Amino acid sequence: MRMKKVLVCGAGGFIGGHLVKKLKSEGAWVRAVDIKNHEYAVSGADEFIIGDLTEQQVVREVLDMPFDEVYQLAADMGGAGYIFTGENDANVMHNSATINLNVLQQVVHTRSKKIFYSSSACIYPAYNQVDPQNPKCSEGSAYPADPDSDYGWEKLFSERLYLAFSRNHGINVKIARFHNIFGPEGTWDGGKEKAPAALCRKVAYADDNSMIEVWGDGKQTRSFLYIDECLEGMERLMNADFSGPVNIGSEEMVTLNELAEAIIRISGKNISIKNIPVPHTGVRGRNSDNKLIQEKLGWAPSAPLEAGLEKTFAWINGEVEKQKKILKNQMAMIMEK
Ligand code: NAD
Repeated sequence: MRMKKVLVCGAGGFIGGHLVKKLKSEGAWVRAVDIKNHEYAVSGADEFIIGDLTEQQVVREVLDMPFDEVYQLAADMGGAGYIFTGENDANVMHNSATINLNVLQQVVHTRSKKIFYSSSACIYPAYNQVDPQNPKCSEGSAYPADPDSDYGWEKLFSERLYLAFSRNHGINVKIARFHNIFGPEGTWDGGKEKAPAALCRKVAYADDNSMIEVWGDGKQTRSFLYIDECLEGMERLMNADFSGPVNIGSEEMVTLNELAEAIIRISGKNISIKNIPVPHTGVRGRNSDNKLIQEKLGWAPSAPLEAGLEKTFAWINGEVEKQKKILKNQMAMIMEK
């Protein structure tokens, strides 16, 4: 049987890195592309190209043949500390939209068969996410549009771009709206990390009988999906006779303080929470609505949050221990001089 040829854009990132691993384990031939190497793992891709997908020439070189599947995961993104300050809005919109425009044009040119696009829960209107206990994120509620960030507006624009290319050029597109995907081998420090990774890091660094800071009043709600179920949802969508957009997320909604408490419990430490005011924490409430995915794919994520947190905390704790060791060695060398 002919090997499936797959292109993964954004393969140096969290979800892309895990996707390459899965595709390789299933026997596909994989070309990966990213502006940087993966920070936490050696990629198993058959080819890993370092290139900037905002450059048309790079996209032409990377997408130079008909692929069976293209996954477009590359985006200028980050957690609340990156998306909501306003300082990165122009970059986020320009870079991500340019990548999507370039990739789609080349998919048409090469007659590649299927393209997956990772949209986000951030497209949902802010006015439906005011009550933390009762947010509305069903796929049909996306319009009238009012995302709470320019990151969300770009995702919504690009969803429409993919659908327009599908209508006018007959491309088989698959669009998922991811809701807070987390797991090992993702950004956990530096400002682009998201809540689960940031809280795991804080707890890992914290001493027993100490305190960690949680942004906002801690009553804002979210749901978090472990990477393995995200990949399963992607695969099912790719193989279904359905384009989306569809939510890929968990329906296990928790407050941010509950998320922190779960991580503290896993660490076995005695740590208290201090809620600190920050200018932007995003909408008050958000949760995946899984009616459509259940109806169209006959499946929805179901693994408990705590199981994923255990694996994620173990990995981040290991990274923190490595950092502490490096720091200790550096200090020892300074003292010797
Ligand atoms: P990530 O930041 O780890 O991965 C994105 C990758 O894109 C990075 O490795 C980055 O270097 C690469 N990239 C950015 N600009 C590029 C460029 N110009 N050329 C080439 N590569 C470039 O993020 P992730 O968590 O793996 O997310 C993957 C996709 O899923 C993104 O499109 C993101 O918006 C979307 N998404 C993720 C989540 C989540 O919770 N992780 C939620 C909603 C949507």
